[in-house]
Amino acid sequence: MPARESTSSAIPAFVSGSKKNLIGGKWVDATSGQQIDVINPATGKPLCRIAQGDATDVDLAVSAARRAFEGGWSRWTPHQRRKLLLKIHDIVLDHFDELALIETLDMGAPLSRTQGLKEWTSQVLQFFASQCDAAASSTAQNSLPGNVLTLKHLAPVGVVGGIIPWNGPLIGLWWIFGPALATGCTAVLKPAEDASLSVLRIAELMTEAGVPDGVINVVTGYGADAGQALAEHKDVDRIAFTGSIGTAQTIVRASVGNLKRLQLELGGKSPDLVFADADLDKAVPGAAMGVYTNSGQVCVAGTRILVQRSIHDEFVERMTEFTKTIRVGDGLDPNTQLGPLISQRQLERVMHYIDVGGGEGARLAGGGNRLGGDLAPGFFVEPTVFSGASNDMTIAREEIFGPVATVIPFDDMDDALQVANDTPFGLAGGVWTGSLSTAHKVSQAIKAGTVWVNCYGVLDPAVGFGGTKMSGYGWKGAREHVEGYLYPKAVYINLD
Ligand code: NAD
Repeated sequence: MPARESTSSAIPAFVSGSKKNLIGGKWVDATSGQQIDVINPATGKPLCRIAQGDATDVDLAVSAARRAFEGGWSRWTPHQRRKLLLKIHDIVLDHFDELALIETLDMGAPLSRTQGLKEWTSQVLQFFASQCDAAASSTAQNSLPGNVLTLKHLAPVGVVGGIIPWNGPLIGLWWIFGPALATGCTAVLKPAEDASLSVLRIAELMTEAGVPDGVINVVTGYGADAGQALAEHKDVDRIAFTGSIGTAQTIVRASVGNLKRLQLELGGKSPDLVFADADLDKAVPGAAMGVYTNSGQVCVAGTRILVQRSIHDEFVERMTEFTKTIRVGDGLDPNTQLGPLISQRQLERVMHYIDVGGGEGARLAGGGNRLGGDLAPGFFVEPTVFSGASNDMTIAREEIFGPVATVIPFDDMDDALQVANDTPFGLAGGVWTGSLSTAHKVSQAIKAGTVWVNCYGVLDPAVGFGGTKMSGYGWKGAREHVEGYLYPKAVYINLD
């Protein structure tokens, strides 16, 4: 599992100099002139700079989005918007190798992952293109006296503010721009300060594809100023936020000024249940990669692996052996399976949890180290397995957002479900079993927005996913997502 050296993939020309914000169709510096260094997490070295936008820039972007919403964009037909989305689809896919490389350099995920997102990107864009008729009108029956015609409209909500995290901007931006373009809304997106580059490059491609000025805007900057300003802005009608619970609570408070609609996709501590009748040849790598994919920086990661006691030791041994086969290193190496964590801060956070896990009595069965030692460049952590843990330990309760699995034994289904649901989160869960009955019973009983059976993490944008409890509200993907960008309106017409 050695950390590997960079290979010589050429750095795209885009990853250089000072990147600007996209406001009203123009690329502009932050009004303050301030910038943020972009750090390559595989080397710890700067790549380029992004604008440090703040409330002034957000205000300009929201004004541009409002003008576009009220202006020519409102006259675009569904068919025109669909053609635009399909054009964006084609141009983005044509540039996908470059986009994958930018994402790998910017946030560390290996090329094997970022390049692998091409087909999913095609799916998500085609899905939203298929939803362009969602802003529709229909006649409705009524029981009114006289001769009254009733119409029901679904109308675009207006200006949408998007705030996304760093763990997968190449995915996260489509959950904002896709439904906005499909419904005729406009958007201001604030990507994460640690990973904005792929969003900026895609915004360039979208303008090339013909997105009108002001329909999409991107303001980079820190959450506490640019993000907060967007959440507070009284001319933003809806905020679509993906990130941590603490930030979500701040956003809920910030949104009260104009009671803006919210969609919140937050964290998790998802249980992945492995029953004794599971096929361990599938369950071991499946549950392991359910935690370690993207170096554990995945909201739905199945980080609490609940294993039936009779197979606990065998499972842990096989999982630990499996982790030794995972290739961790610079994402530019095509053989790398796991890249670095996003930042020094995240590295310290993950190493802290690993210390706490050992301190609270979980057995460190594998991993647990920073790769290359404390002075190594880049933010690499070994895939780590804690076994024999209990659900009250910190590593079973808090989201670590790193490659750390906590294996907890259980006796029977009731016991497993009690542990599975003993969490404030409700994002996802999994079950590995050979029994159809167990699969159905468990998937019904887990209190979470998504449950996987004998697989983990697959996602069809037309089906979607979402959270319950403190993992947020609002569905991503499917018709429900699009409807969140619309509001219903009834019209009563007296025909006499
Ligand atoms: P974060 O909440 O710190 O940051 C997310 C975004 O919010 C960033 O763009 C950040 O700049 C911005 N932000 C920070 N403070 C803000 C404020 N006061 N007002 C407005 N915006 C602000 O989260 P993170 O650490 O970047 O990401 C990791 C978290 O995201 C994890 O909890 C993870 O589970 C979650 N996540 C959830 C999903 C999902 O779909 N459920 C997907 C990916 C990540």
